[in-house]
Amino acid sequence: MSVGGDSSGDIYDVTIVGGGPTGLFAAFYAGLRQMKIKIIDSPQLGGQLAALYPEKYIYDVAGFPRVLAKDLVAYQVEQALQYDPTVCLEEKVTNVARDADSGILTVTTDRRLTPDEDGGDRGGVGAFMPRKLDVPRVEELVGKGIQYFVTDTSGFAGKRIVIVGGGDSAFDWALGLHEQAASCMLIHRSDRFPRP
Ligand SMILES: Cc1cc2nc3c(=O)[nH]c(=O)nc-3n(C[C@H](O)[C@H](O)[C@H](O)COP(=O)(O)OP(=O)(O)OC[C@H]3O[C@@H](n4cnc5c(N)ncnc54)[C@H](O)[C@@H]3O)c2cc1C
Repeated sequence: MSVGGDSSGDIYDVTIVGGGPTGLFAAFYAGLRQMKIKIIDSPQLGGQLAALYPEKYIYDVAGFPRVLAKDLVAYQVEQALQYDPTVCLEEKVTNVARDADSGILTVTTDRRLTPDEDGGDRGGVGAFMPRKLDVPRVEELVGKGIQYFVTDTSGFAGKRIVIVGGGDSAFDWALGLHEQAASCMLIHRSDRFPRP
């Protein structure tokens, strides 16, 4: 196992880059083994569940017949933080370098960069990018009827919804929203759906 330090000189047994489900469970297990842990994420804990689909139900987690993503994140965070890891949010890891003599890995983040030094882009790796509709001027309608992320399902009650896509997410949202919507139509560009 490698040990990692940061630019402040602190040494950790484990530095976890990314506080999504994988990183949070790694933090729990490392804590169980009494390791000194740091979690770094940009921008928040919870990964895709927190950023992309907090209000979607998840059906494939052992022990939960179904669980809202935001609730699962809350459980995972509670589980991960019980051994008091150091948590650094709003930080993006930009470099990892190993010292040849000590074997220590030094993890560098963008935390101390000014917006100018950082190229002005503070969106961070946590800003997951959707595949956008290739339709002229569609960007003018984003937030006014078109949306790529669902962070609050209450706004869909009684609405006529059109979901564009034929993958897992499209089906997830069709199942998740059709009961409260006035109608729900799924449009897919192919005559078949991809196999999972
Ligand atoms: C719409 C949708 C629905 C889904 N539904 C389901 C489902 O029902 N069931 C299921 O099992 N799976 C589902 N998935 C897949 C599931 O979300 C992923 O498998 C899961 O989030 C992967 O967890 P992870 O921790 O490995 O990565 P992520 O959740 O992607 O988390 C990685 C984290 O690392 C951070 N990070 C990355 N690089 C850096 C860096 N350099 N510095 C700092 N931080 C960094 C990111 O910001 C992010 O927070 C779904 C995915 C989507 C998009």
